[in-house]
Amino acid sequence: MKRKLAAGNWKMNGTASSLAELEALVSLHTAPSVDILICPPATLIAQAVGLCANSPIMIGAQDCHAAASGAHTGDISAPMLADVGAGAVILGHSERREDHNETSDLVAQKAVAAHAAGLIAVVCLGESLAQREGARTLDVITDQLSASLPDGTTGANTVIAYEPIWAIGTGLTPSLAQIGEVHDFIRSRLSERFGGQAAEDFRLLYGGSVKPENAAEIFATSNVDGALVGGASLKSADFSSIIKALE
Ligand code: PGA
Repeated sequence: MKRKLAAGNWKMNGTASSLAELEALVSLHTAPSVDILICPPATLIAQAVGLCANSPIMIGAQDCHAAASGAHTGDISAPMLADVGAGAVILGHSERREDHNETSDLVAQKAVAAHAAGLIAVVCLGESLAQREGARTLDVITDQLSASLPDGTTGANTVIAYEPIWAIGTGLTPSLAQIGEVHDFIRSRLSERFGGQAAEDFRLLYGGSVKPENAAEIFATSNVDGALVGGASLKSADFSSIIKALE
């Protein structure tokens, strides 16, 4: 039986003092019935791993390089993340696709690197507002899904996060029907590629302005197995409410 997943993405937020929020979360959730993942900035991963040493909370990263090592100034590889104790890495977030021109092909290469290092890849997909208004959402999802997932992808080594770009950090969310439509669609595409049974193993997260107030209804939506949460993951009280809504 696959476990649901509450994932927090701190983005470029947090210094050592922010770890108090993680500490609070650790004490609030000692035996959760869902999986919990926190992805702090790279500078805090080692300390966060230490804080969660006796906790079921997993620490992840927000990106990795596709190569294992080499002349790539400023980058961090998947084996380095695994070495410091990370268990997962977010890949292809729309902010990386936009700020760093990351393509789905590159995301797939990074996923290969993540899998080789034993990390779970949290692969993000999602349409822009113009694409949604142009009725191109499902085409965009089809393209991103097929190109971002390398061969060897399974529900054990990969989580899919559907994050409409226009809903990220804006307070806007799609209707529940729109979320359900895309999640059902992703599941059926996975089924076509990997087979029906294997497709069921994937956790499909929704992301984009998830907060305590809307979490329960989003989690009750078809094929939603959890959330990838940005802003509301920065405060332990808010993220804890979201975890409880998933439990
Ligand atoms: P948000 O971000 O929850 O702040 O909208 C979600 C994300 O980008 O993962």
